[in-house]
Amino acid sequence: MNSKNQERGHLSVADAQAEVLRHADRRTVETVTLERALGRVLVEDIRSNRDQPPYDVSAMDGFAARSADLASAPVTLTVIEDIQAGDMPKQTVGVGQCARIMTGAPVPRGADAVIRVEDTQAQADGRIEFQKSVKTGNDIRKLGESLRNGQTVLAAGTEVTPGVIGVLATVKAAQLAVFGRPSVAILATGNELEALDEPLDPYKIPNSNSYALMGQVQALGIEPTLLGIARDDPEELATYLKRGLDHEHFDVLLVSGGSSVGVHDHVRPTLEALGVTMRFWRVEMRPGHPVAFGTTVDGGLVFGLPGNPVSSMVCFEQFVLPALRQMMGHRRLFRRTVEARLAHPVRIRPGRTEFVRVTLERDAQGYVARSTGTQSSGVLLSMAVADGLLVVPGTSEGFAEGDSATVQLLDGTTFQDDAGFEGRV
Ligand code: AMP
Ligand code: MG
Repeated sequence: MNSKNQERGHLSVADAQAEVLRHADRRTVETVTLERALGRVLVEDIRSNRDQPPYDVSAMDGFAARSADLASAPVTLTVIEDIQAGDMPKQTVGVGQCARIMTGAPVPRGADAVIRVEDTQAQADGRIEFQKSVKTGNDIRKLGESLRNGQTVLAAGTEVTPGVIGVLATVKAAQLAVFGRPSVAILATGNELEALDEPLDPYKIPNSNSYALMGQVQALGIEPTLLGIARDDPEELATYLKRGLDHEHFDVLLVSGGSSVGVHDHVRPTLEALGVTMRFWRVEMRPGHPVAFGTTVDGGLVFGLPGNPVSSMVCFEQFVLPALRQMMGHRRLFRRTVEARLAHPVRIRPGRTEFVRVTLERDAQGYVARSTGTQSSGVLLSMAVADGLLVVPGTSEGFAEGDSATVQLLDGTTFQDDAGFEGRV
């Protein structure tokens, strides 16, 4: 880290992410039913309350027999019983005998193997001919093979996926302790902004940031509160910011616009006047250079996101998303990245980590990344069609056609342990 830059509130992407995560620790715990648990994170270890399967069961529709009887196959055995799933066998399989058995039914005493029906032939007298010999244990799922009573089946910190829900249902965990979701407020700032429900004024700029941010927050499973639009007036801004900083209601406040150094950019001084400790206000990245982050005395977080629509979304991806995921108890905080080959050269001005909106396609060798076109930070359509953000290290001048580079995926529900790129300049 360049300490002079740090003094000036300038950080690399990686250092800014680390700084945010150092402070994103307000977490709550709540109880949810299994039906509402998808995507949540378990607070406690989950133990099995049973052996599963509870006894040796058949893995096939077929016949339970003694493997010793089949050693001299082909052999013909007498059927003593029909056992369906849910039945308890009544008889013991003796020498020269077998039982018809269905998948999931308990294997009867005496039998040590199951032979699937396809490897048998029914005789005219009702007896069954077995064509092949099998080893002991053939096609039997052993008692406790999938779960052992008392065993920790899911560790605290596990994210509830559909597979996890299946395991939780198996051990009858109908109520679960999970981490709560932080409450998020979103505020837009700017005299030029027109609200969604205002009549169209061709000289105004539609407030898209509040809604794009809303979508980004909702995609993480959180329903945010939109606080509206504050004008570029210190008093009005203070009134709105106070609402967003109220820790009774919100854990995280996202403010878009007004974080630059223009004379009407009042966000940072107003936040400071309201007692927020600013941790950084510049990150060496493009787009998104004027991004600010602060904390309140009681652990609330404030992000001052750039007003430019693309910058606002890109900064959300790098800083807000991992913070919200950490507050929800997730271990994997970062968007998944993939390596892709570039369909064309990408040139940057060195000095800042650059995020280029790209689409991804696959060919026989893997992913191919292609720029969505103009990378002006005002062109929101570039974000709407992008599959990912190509990361261009600020230590480079870019990439040549065919070079392999890291692309941060913009959607999906799988995340990874680290950012997947250096983010240092
Ligand atoms: P600012 O960071 O306030 O200087 O804004 C930078 C640019 O982003 C300006 O062109 C603004 O008009 C635009 N902008 C700011 N806030 C929003 C918003 N909520 N929705 C769309 N554009 C915005
Ligand atoms: Mg503004």
